[in-house]
Amino acid sequence: MTRPIEALISRANLQHNFTVVRRLTPGARIMAVVKANAYGHGAVQVAGALAPFADAFGVASLEEAVELRDAGIDQPIVLLSGVFGPTEMREVARYGLGTVIHCAEQLQILLDTQLNQPIDVWLKLDTGMHRLGFTPDGFCRAAARLRTAEQVAKCVFLSHLACADKPAAELNEGQLTTFRNTVDKPGVRRGEGLSLANSAALLTRPDMHFDWVRPGVMLYGVNPLSAEVPLPEGVDLRPVMTLRSRIVALQTVPAGEGVGYGEAWRAPGILNAASASPSRIAVVAAGYGDGYPRHARNGCPVLVNGRPAAIAGRVSMDLLALDLGDNHQAKVGDSVTLWGEGLAVEAIAEYSETIAYELLTGVNQRVMFSYE
Ligand SMILES: *Cc1c(COP(=O)(O)O)cnc(C)c1O
Repeated sequence: MTRPIEALISRANLQHNFTVVRRLTPGARIMAVVKANAYGHGAVQVAGALAPFADAFGVASLEEAVELRDAGIDQPIVLLSGVFGPTEMREVARYGLGTVIHCAEQLQILLDTQLNQPIDVWLKLDTGMHRLGFTPDGFCRAAARLRTAEQVAKCVFLSHLACADKPAAELNEGQLTTFRNTVDKPGVRRGEGLSLANSAALLTRPDMHFDWVRPGVMLYGVNPLSAEVPLPEGVDLRPVMTLRSRIVALQTVPAGEGVGYGEAWRAPGILNAASASPSRIAVVAAGYGDGYPRHARNGCPVLVNGRPAAIAGRVSMDLLALDLGDNHQAKVGDSVTLWGEGLAVEAIAEYSETIAYELLTGVNQRVMFSYE
């Protein structure tokens, strides 16, 4: 027996979520975003499962792209942050990749490099997020230079939204207007594609779909919208990763006594009172050393044999403790679902002051992955 924590990845649910994207965006092409090891799910396996359906893949670095090429993925692959130095541009062409160009330095690298074949360039406009991208003026100049550059096969124009999870945010309108106005300037538009929408915009803003949509987190079954925003009617996203482990110890803790480091949880009831019944605590082989969030608060939901239990006390590196409540007949070896099927990772994120993206990408190598 090995340490029992494992991540089960459902290819069927991944493919289902992809079909949700396809149904919502007829007429658009789909770049499946698989950066950061496919949001922690395994880039090669995820890209393999989506390869028959996706029009392109998006990654964060040359290394991530090469991993997919070496695994036989032959769709277009785009470096979403572009290259990080002059020597990478030749590799981009050698591996038949595409790249974002978001700044003057990257543009210069491209123009200064002789490539063995022209590459697809995704020219990025900053429409108000102020992270990556050219100003509208710089964008127009860059587009004009790319138009005649022999290194360029086709050129897509893209931008990225800062507040797409809140469709009513004012910035969305400003970003859309800046995008439209800039790419429609005479002499700028090459007609080879426009792209603005991530998962959240794809779900809520058909007017932002353009030619290419770039879903990431929703492919993995996570609702990208802010909690107060409802998912559109009929959208059914299914969890792709189920993180689970097993009970390795049981404790009976008298009222008033603490569990775990710092006694951050105490068994309810009055110390030594005859009426107070002790608490049943299950200790599980999972901790922040696996990627489970240390900041998960007391009460954070967990499933034991499919029934609800709650985190009790501080999560430690290899272990965490659960309050089984009144109802459990749990035994050592019983199955514990930390998130996934039956328990949305978004709920764990909420109890941990973070977002589902961080939890999924944080699951690390100590966890055994299996694919079904
Ligand atoms: C990560 C990323 C996406 C995907 O975003 P989600 O919110 O996960 O859908 C899309 N576009 C760019 C440029 C990205 O970096």
